[in-house]
Amino acid sequence: MRPTLAFDADDTLWHNETHYAETQEAFRALLRPFHDDAWIDARLHDTEMRNLGSYGYGIKGFTLSMIETALELTENRLDGAGLRQVLDLGKAMLDKPVEALPGTDEVLAELARTYDLMVITKGDLFDQETKLAKSGLGNHFSKVEIVSEKDEATYAAILQRHGLRPADFTMVGNSVKSDILPVLALGAQAVHIPYHLTWAHEVVASPVESPYPVLDSIRDLPALLASW
Ligand SMILES: [Mg+2]
Repeated sequence: MRPTLAFDADDTLWHNETHYAETQEAFRALLRPFHDDAWIDARLHDTEMRNLGSYGYGIKGFTLSMIETALELTENRLDGAGLRQVLDLGKAMLDKPVEALPGTDEVLAELARTYDLMVITKGDLFDQETKLAKSGLGNHFSKVEIVSEKDEATYAAILQRHGLRPADFTMVGNSVKSDILPVLALGAQAVHIPYHLTWAHEVVASPVESPYPVLDSIRDLPALLASW
């Protein structure tokens, strides 16, 4: 059986967190007459965390959390035009083109000769399917898993569903919390490729000496895998 190489999608295959950061800046600008930036950021983050159990990950849940935060921070004085502005911020995110990270297409084409390639991404099913289609990278992958959380139980279920042994499974991603630690805990392999921005929810303390490989770019992945 060919080994499986699984990739996270957001900020591993394509730019994502930059869109959230840009949107959050526009959201701050809208509420700046009422509060300072740090307070707006903190309230939005709290609202997102409180709503994760109801909305899950993704742009639509984020948009609802922006609306809720805007209403809270203005004590319900945000008017219809203000609400419209927040909705438009969310819609603009959904309409953004999906920009693959440099080298992704070539590297995936090369690795597909040796590995079964899989995408494992968390978020809204419709959002993530749309992004994969827009990215133009979809044809490299034989399996796509869109999940609501990326923890040890999720990865264990994926391995079982596809009949994969941990020894034959390697995960590549930008989030230590979601892409690396739960995979290593199962005895499988993981490769960290950090993105220049990390969502606050995904930040974990990095070990001083990392027990997994860390690469600057997906372009370095084929050489690393060849060295194993
Ligand atoms: Mg990611």
